[in-house]
Amino acid sequence: MSSFEELSAHPALARALATRGYDTPTAVQEAVLVAEERDLLVSSQTGSGKTVAFGLLLARLLLGSEERIKRGMRPRALVVAPTRELAVQVHKELSWLFQPTGARLLAFTGGTDLRQDLRALKGGVELVVGTPGRLVDLVERKGLDLEGLEAVVLDEADEMLDLGFREALQALLDKAPAERRTLLFSATLPSEIRALAQKYQKHALHIDPRGAGARPSAHEDIRHVCHLVANGDRVAAVVNVLRQADEERAIVFCARREGVAEMHRQLARRGFSAVAMSGDRAQAERTRALDAVRAGSAQVLVATNVAARGLDLPDVGLVVHADLPENPEALTHRSGRTGRAGKKGVNVLIAEMGERRRAERLFQLAHVVCAWTAAPSASSIAAADLERVFTQVLTDAQAADDQASLGLADRLLTSGEPRAIVAALLKRALTGRPAGEVLKPIDLKPKPRHPATHATTRSVSHSGSQSTSHAAARPGSHARPHAPAHAHVTAPAGKPREAMAKSGVVLFEINLGAKDNAEPGWLLPLVCRRGSITRKEVGAIRVGRDSSTFEIAADAADEFGANAAERDPRAPNVRIERAAAGDGAKLATRSWKPLAKKHPRRP
Ligand code: AMP
Repeated sequence: MSSFEELSAHPALARALATRGYDTPTAVQEAVLVAEERDLLVSSQTGSGKTVAFGLLLARLLLGSEERIKRGMRPRALVVAPTRELAVQVHKELSWLFQPTGARLLAFTGGTDLRQDLRALKGGVELVVGTPGRLVDLVERKGLDLEGLEAVVLDEADEMLDLGFREALQALLDKAPAERRTLLFSATLPSEIRALAQKYQKHALHIDPRGAGARPSAHEDIRHVCHLVANGDRVAAVVNVLRQADEERAIVFCARREGVAEMHRQLARRGFSAVAMSGDRAQAERTRALDAVRAGSAQVLVATNVAARGLDLPDVGLVVHADLPENPEALTHRSGRTGRAGKKGVNVLIAEMGERRRAERLFQLAHVVCAWTAAPSASSIAAADLERVFTQVLTDAQAADDQASLGLADRLLTSGEPRAIVAALLKRALTGRPAGEVLKPIDLKPKPRHPATHATTRSVSHSGSQSTSHAAARPGSHARPHAPAHAHVTAPAGKPREAMAKSGVVLFEINLGAKDNAEPGWLLPLVCRRGSITRKEVGAIRVGRDSSTFEIAADAADEFGANAAERDPRAPNVRIERAAAGDGAKLATRSWKPLAKKHPRRP
């Protein structure tokens, strides 16, 4: 494991990092420090240390071998972030990091006085951090001059596109000099991000510190659990999860701000110290809420996704999704509020009975292995409370040295029956906490979605022990008992086919996989067209990372193989051939999606 000095981090920044006790670079910091000096597209989760990572790159660029930065009137580097909170956080982080260099940093976000920003810019600045809308406003008012930029960082770029900032980003990038360096940091790389990179970066190097050989990233420190609850038990389940975990800091996510208000009301009514944060609240109120959680006077922050984007709250041990995230990206971002900077975290999703399938699909798409368990029950919470008080009292007793308390103990123990006295004190220690809720019973056993599937599913029994169950294998099955963490689970393409059941299947391989965004939904028509067969002759399709396999009814296999081997002028690079024995087992698999009937996507 290298140190910042060994990786040639700028010495002034290495000193600032050491002052904070940051001696070991995180995976993303190491990856960018050893990368070539060119545009970078960095896959990075929030909490991975990415702000320091781009700070280190900016320092190399702006300082070279100088100890102090050359000052000027217009910014030399611009960092664009999706939300006020993230921009403020990035500004804070870069401020201590660049402090020894004499660099001046300014943050510009919506919701503050624009005239004040314009005045601040008149004093000169080296590094500007801001949200897209406000930055564009400042450029349009001629207060912010981007022509001196040597580097632009787009932080949480996928979030910015999700929030509809594409045009604002383009306006900013169009104003920056063409020879600037562009560093793009993003948790996910959907096609829109790749398109942005293509348009605004020069031969960008893609860095994924979570890739093969990388050290574990922050997100591997998160344990994912999903509680299936009866309809109407959502709030009760959140209460029980919070009570059972007994974390000092937790975030509860709700889909909408009305949900935030209601959840906050319900938790406060039960005695939780909770604060709420949603986009509609005034900035001062949001800041107060965050400060309360940071200071420890509030235990639970209830928030919408948007309100909590980019938040860096230290030591959030638990994230609860009271409502399921709307897409895999939201799951990734919400979950990333815990397990930060190498600490462990638990990410709990609450799914009501009708939401199980949606949740499973989310996990597949977000490449998350999630344990399905029942929510903690009122009795398990009561038992956990007893254990906690037991341990706490014994620990405190070992350190008891307060003479007044010891004197009172002597008096109490000589005045009454010791067992009854201790029990009375324990009763006090045990009251005052919100009570666990009684939940309606549920059946955790998944209902088989496709009776003939040979999918591997992970499940957790009521006792909490993890088990792996396998549905019956069909001929030609290549599902394996321990799918890797990124594995998707497959199901055959439609109903069991009689023709296939009779004749068996032959496995073929196509050189398109998840890296090409392959999905069974568009692979199927492609396979049929190439092999001149109908859908009836195609069985399970499994999408791997680099290639995919699919089953063809044995009696159609020879003809299919011959047809598919012919070069297709519409897709000359797509190759289909018989899979070598065992190939299917090597592939991560992806779930079956309904066919896109009208316009199947083609590679
Ligand atoms: P970020 O991903 O930039 O939001 O960073 C998450 C947290 O990790 C921040 O509080 C950083 O100050 C902290 N951090 C950054 N680099 C390191 C490091 N090398 N060692 C320990 N903590 C770090």
